[in-house]
Amino acid sequence: MEYEVIIIGGGIAGLQAAIQLGRAQRSALVIDSNQGRSNLCRTYHNILGWPDGVSGEQLRKLGRQQAESVGIQFMEDTVISAEKGDHIFRVKTKQGSALEAKRILIATGILDRIPDMPEIYQCLGSSVYICPDCDGYEIKDQLTLVAGSGNPGANMALTLSYWTDRLIYINHEQKKVDSRIMKKLKEKNIQYIHIPIKEAIVEKGDFTGFQLADGRLLSAGKCFLAFGGNEVRSGIAKQLGVEVLENNHIKVNRRTQETNVKGVWAAGDVTVHSEQTAIAMGDGLQAAIWIHKSLLQEK
Ligand SMILES: Cc1cc2nc3c(=O)[nH]c(=O)nc-3n(C[C@H](O)[C@H](O)[C@H](O)COP(=O)(O)OP(=O)(O)OC[C@H]3O[C@@H](n4cnc5c(N)ncnc54)[C@H](O)[C@@H]3O)c2cc1C
Repeated sequence: MEYEVIIIGGGIAGLQAAIQLGRAQRSALVIDSNQGRSNLCRTYHNILGWPDGVSGEQLRKLGRQQAESVGIQFMEDTVISAEKGDHIFRVKTKQGSALEAKRILIATGILDRIPDMPEIYQCLGSSVYICPDCDGYEIKDQLTLVAGSGNPGANMALTLSYWTDRLIYINHEQKKVDSRIMKKLKEKNIQYIHIPIKEAIVEKGDFTGFQLADGRLLSAGKCFLAFGGNEVRSGIAKQLGVEVLENNHIKVNRRTQETNVKGVWAAGDVTVHSEQTAIAMGDGLQAAIWIHKSLLQEK
């Protein structure tokens, strides 16, 4: 089956691109494995038009409906390979589909490294956070636990000291914290705990604290996670010869969102930017506009 565009990843960036391409009357397929950051976040608080917050699930549902209403097709699957032929891209999926497209948009996002605490997932974005730019405001002047690993966790606690001076950093994985950073934690009066977490305590969907391995219970209504080592999902881009930075984020032309490989675009968290929903939407829109323009030139 040949499409004008295959969008790999149907999160925020992929959906916004799909809506724009549908409105440009392009034949496009979104292939999505349904395991993105927008699947995880229970509430986005900083989105224009949603002062009381909106969940990733809700945005994804509305986005898909809107894209389908302008003719975009969806496939729930995982892209496992992509290659460039003379005038066409060939894409293969885990469930065995082989598809072709004139243009590819990579919108595969990031996978956060969240510790093995299943109960915490129901609180992500509502009382447990990962991004200070998104949710620093949510902990203003409140007692907040930072669960993390070594320097990334310590640096998160330091960043959050702009928002509250009631911070406890639990170095769950007990990785080394540089002495320079440790000194800063002391200067900011951030309590440091070098003991693993046994379990997260969640009551009626809200985070209420951690039980530590030594039996101690730390109670607080807010938590930030910072373990480092998130996976930037740029593997398919690399197969296509797309240039990525040392941290695996895809480099794009900021005006068009096109990569160094002609015909391959990228948008959202997988590219180099500040990992925000509104920015992912902007990226997706921008990519779709320029994909449409590039297809017009073919005629
Ligand atoms: C807990 C949490 C809280 C957050 N809070 C906020 C907030 O308050 N405000 C804010 O602006 N942002 C917030 N964010 C960040 C926001 O969710 C991301 O910036 C946004 O989801 C990026 O959109 P995206 O389309 O790039 O990636 P995603 O939404 O992650 O979508 C990527 C999609 O690609 C799919 N995919 C990946 N690889 C493949 C493949 N090989 N084949 C097929 N499909 C694939 C995934 O399954 C996924 O559906 C938060 C994130 C988290 C995790």
